[in-house]
Amino acid sequence: QASRLAESLREAFQHGEGKLRVYPEGGEPQDFSSRFHCAGCDRNFPEPSPNLFSFNSPYGACPTCRGFGNLLDYDPALIVPDATVNLDQGALDPWTKPRYENRRLMLKEYCRCVGIDMHTAWADLPAEHREMLLEGAAGFEGVLPFLRRLERKKYKQYIRFFLRRYQSERLCPDCSGSRLRAEAGSVRLAGRSIGELTALSIESLSRWLDGLPQELSSWQMEAAADPLREIGSRLSY
Ligand SMILES: [Zn+2]
Ligand SMILES: [Zn+2]
Repeated sequence: QASRLAESLREAFQHGEGKLRVYPEGGEPQDFSSRFHCAGCDRNFPEPSPNLFSFNSPYGACPTCRGFGNLLDYDPALIVPDATVNLDQGALDPWTKPRYENRRLMLKEYCRCVGIDMHTAWADLPAEHREMLLEGAAGFEGVLPFLRRLERKKYKQYIRFFLRRYQSERLCPDCSGSRLRAEAGSVRLAGRSIGELTALSIESLSRWLDGLPQELSSWQMEAAADPLREIGSRLSY
């Protein structure tokens, strides 16, 4: 009976190119996949390979942060390092550099036109004015669009250094710092993803590994024996 069922399923998978639907008597039809494909939501997953679990590999690295785990973003707190300073004294740090004399003139002209007081401390300016100066407004390129536009000249080293001064790191929203692409996190061993495991302390990880043989089937244990021994010896090192 069991071998007849197995034979039918094998045939159905073959005809369905890896997909089959079971109609249980009196139940809802259920979809199955023989590949790394979710029959429920019809998503394909890459075949797991060692590279998938390495952020040093372009295959495994999170595409958003390219495997760094964090993103560099322009940080208003670095653009205006001292909020007690006013615009006339150089509150907007990038435009205090000698090279950007013309930016200071444009700023002055714009402030005069729209009535932004250059002698009020940055922190005391209306939020709306601060936003116009940072984000830009009609007829005025703000500091942020200015910096982003300069990125086109990043091949010049002094531009790279200049821009980097105004950026700070934030956790990558897509991999939450695990540095791996999302599909690597979908692979679980005894319920845990690689991201969860690498976040554990060495003690907790050792304890988890000690309990692992009870969680795995015999063929899984057979396949995992060598790597587990190696991990165990590295952890106790
Ligand atoms: Zn799904
Ligand atoms: Zn990421």
